[in-house]
Amino acid sequence: MRIVLLFVVCLCVVLAGCASQQAAKEGEKLQYVQTDTGRWLIHDVNRPAPPIITPGTLGTETEAGKAPSDAVVLFDGTDLSQWTSGKGGPAKWIVRDGYMEAVKDSGPVGTKRTFGSCQLHVEFATPSKVTGSSQGRGNSGVFLMDTYEVQVLDSYDNKTYPDGQCAALYGRNVPLVNACRKPGEWQSYDIIFHRPIFKGGKVVRKATFTVFHNGVLVQDHVELQGGTGWNGPHAISNYEPHADRLPIALQDHGNPVKFRNVWVRELAD
Ligand code: MG
Repeated sequence: MRIVLLFVVCLCVVLAGCASQQAAKEGEKLQYVQTDTGRWLIHDVNRPAPPIITPGTLGTETEAGKAPSDAVVLFDGTDLSQWTSGKGGPAKWIVRDGYMEAVKDSGPVGTKRTFGSCQLHVEFATPSKVTGSSQGRGNSGVFLMDTYEVQVLDSYDNKTYPDGQCAALYGRNVPLVNACRKPGEWQSYDIIFHRPIFKGGKVVRKATFTVFHNGVLVQDHVELQGGTGWNGPHAISNYEPHADRLPIALQDHGNPVKFRNVWVRELAD
């Protein structure tokens, strides 16, 4: 039995060698790639395959989407147990009918958990009853690391400064297109964010944003040149060193903007 087994193994080795030589004969050079998991032959079936997950579903006007199986669900429409008030204490936003809604003067809400580089999905709806104009109409915001704002605004037929319209990196970068739906309709952001890295009190790698608004690419791997904070009508803030992980926050800008189906997947820096 052992002899038979040895013969089979030897035969496999010889055949594999012949196959390689045959490939070389035909000019098909064997090529390798160096990766985090080692050095692998191109098209090597033994190279580690990625984890299998169950993808989520897209939201519709009547139904929130579902998170992929490997995401951290931050809000599934039921409660604010994973959120806290930016002013301290429990989050005071309203939860009803599967969404949370910003409450004027209650302050922002931020996640109890902290995150750095990540993929973030958020669904939102600006008020169906249109009041105000420019920055006073359906204003909120998605803050990565409690600091860098992807603007939420009712920018459907609402003129404002372009670097502060919906899907802008506030004060920094205008979206590629205005992909807003009508007031009151559910919309989505899918954000790929790589955090800034600080050393010795200075930024040594700037943050980057890729943003899809309602499935449309609006920020294409944009390197954020500084902060997005308000610092006067025609000024902007600079990078300020901060921790490697901070909460994700949603802004109270005085308008009853709704959010649902918020989930995050952590990414390598
Ligand atoms: Mg805002």
